[in-house]
Amino acid sequence: MSVDRGIAAPHCRLCGRPLEQTFADLGETPLANRNLKPGEEACEKRYPLIARVCGTCMLVQVDSSVPPEEIFSDYDYFSSTSTQWVAHARQYAEAMRRRFDLGGASMVVEIASNDGYLLQHFKAAAIPVLGVEPAANVAAKAIAGGIRTEVAFFGVETAERLRKDGFAADLMAANNVLAHVPDVVDFAGGFAVLLKPEGVATFEFPHILRLIEGAQFDTIYHEHFFYLSLLAAERILKAAGLRVFDVEELTSHGGSLRIFVCRENAAHETTSRLEALRALERAAGLDELSGYAGLAPRIERAKASFLDFLARAKAEGKTVAAYGAAAKGNTFLNVCKVRHPDIVAVYDANPSKQNKLTPGSHIPILPPARMLDQRPDFVVILPWNIADEILAVLRPLSDWHGRAVVAIPETRIL
Ligand SMILES: [Zn+2]
Repeated sequence: MSVDRGIAAPHCRLCGRPLEQTFADLGETPLANRNLKPGEEACEKRYPLIARVCGTCMLVQVDSSVPPEEIFSDYDYFSSTSTQWVAHARQYAEAMRRRFDLGGASMVVEIASNDGYLLQHFKAAAIPVLGVEPAANVAAKAIAGGIRTEVAFFGVETAERLRKDGFAADLMAANNVLAHVPDVVDFAGGFAVLLKPEGVATFEFPHILRLIEGAQFDTIYHEHFFYLSLLAAERILKAAGLRVFDVEELTSHGGSLRIFVCRENAAHETTSRLEALRALERAAGLDELSGYAGLAPRIERAKASFLDFLARAKAEGKTVAAYGAAAKGNTFLNVCKVRHPDIVAVYDANPSKQNKLTPGSHIPILPPARMLDQRPDFVVILPWNIADEILAVLRPLSDWHGRAVVAIPETRIL
């Protein structure tokens, strides 16, 4: 960790103090979700990708180097394309319905409701739902599927408008969205407006403790502003008049937290597992700067082991491909400065990504069936968090003695 000597230091999005401590400096990279059409390589823009930790409130955040209109245009992610994520949504809906006794008189609101992948399960149980989703093309798919969806960015203003229209929520869900909104206090404030007095909001986000310990630096990208601990999330929510009363640890995204939140003066009692997780984070040093020093050396080790693997494969005349053209993999490839043809192709089952090029590394994205004629010796599984799901797809590799590879926290041939 180093002290930056720039003249105009960026400021913390929560407490407003200058951000002086670097958490991870990943160099200049293009937007990790922006695949290119062939021919667009020359006009690709790059932005510094630096995550810093606030020395006052310990919130880890990425510098705002990218204009917001660049980030939110042309967004082509559909939640329903990951089978694991669809199963996760079904289990969530069932658990919340039972725990909070939701029924036909309840209202469930999801923020960043995507294509309705989660709300469909509440709707199937005859529980009224409302989705709020800023990407019109994604919301259209939910609406076509019968999920009432408001096309809007969420915050205090949207929440007040919905409240005037008669909406008030028993349950609000926000999965993997808290980290994606730059004005996080206004965003959290919207929940305080829209929740009923005893209503509950749940937020899921990757746990920064797992990011540090597992060298998951590839989860850092420009569109992902915050990297949260429980302690930091509690500070954000407190600023909006909300209180965390429970937490669950999840395996999704390499280790996530699901926090349960209510209004400051609601009756929900604090659980012992919340106290335990706070204690775990304090023991790991996450309430002081020292707890954030461990990532930088782990990034260097992960990079070195992957570059060593690629050099050996090249020396032996072997070909290397990859699987999964998601943001994660793109950050990883760009930090390692790997390009086509070091990796001959990235296979991906999503048709909207196929026949494009990965950002920065400019590797062709091809349908998984192309693996059968390219017959690569190694296939690097870039979304390591769903490696099991992808290993099943890579089964044909054994026909030509190909091997699957995972590169985080260090490169391993499976
Ligand atoms: Zn701060």
